[in-house]
Amino acid sequence: MPVTRRTFLAVAGASAAGAVALGAGSAAAMAAEGPSARVSPAEALERLKRGNTRAANGRTVQRNYSPLAQTPAKGQEPFAAVVSCADSRVVPDTVFDMVPGNLFVVRNAGNSIEEVGLGSLEYGVAVLGVSLIVVLGHTRCGAVIATEDTIKTGEMPPPSIDSVVQAIEPALLPLPAGHSIDDAIAANATYQARQVQALSPLIAKETAAGTVGIVSGLYGLASGRVTWLA
Ligand SMILES: [Zn+2]
Repeated sequence: MPVTRRTFLAVAGASAAGAVALGAGSAAAMAAEGPSARVSPAEALERLKRGNTRAANGRTVQRNYSPLAQTPAKGQEPFAAVVSCADSRVVPDTVFDMVPGNLFVVRNAGNSIEEVGLGSLEYGVAVLGVSLIVVLGHTRCGAVIATEDTIKTGEMPPPSIDSVVQAIEPALLPLPAGHSIDDAIAANATYQARQVQALSPLIAKETAAGTVGIVSGLYGLASGRVTWLA
């Protein structure tokens, strides 16, 4: 059943209770880092850092990868939301060595914040109880490179690819001439993270209260490591 705005807001209005009710009794929500009952933003970030270190060092937690062995079917208690690029090489669950049920993931080309994605993040915060939002850029991002090309040439890509470029362009325009592509990718990730805060009063209220954190990171395709930006 689709979640209508009415039902969403009804549940969001009782966010803490809603998060508990949805996940209560979900023994299957056990994960590499333990059960995902609401943690502090700092603890959520530490979990991701530990997971990325495991993954980058090739020391992932051994698991049965059958979906039925890992998926908490009765409810979910993800502790973090990740906005990542749609790039096939960037898979947040493997970047952070997590299992189904740990991460609430929004993906699109260029890891930008658009309306449906923002609504998804609000759902993650208000209903599912995530305590950290990560905007994850990555090296060699084709969406950012395409935006750089558009800025240089003035030629927009065809619809609807132009919407990808338009979402990234404001992040790159303030950059000085001669900046590197990694500078542009990092600038986009930090810009999109700020957009979450700027565009969502619901999430801004949680960050002001200290119950939700927003950070950005740059994932290195060659190293497997996330460099945290803000
Ligand atoms: Zn990308």
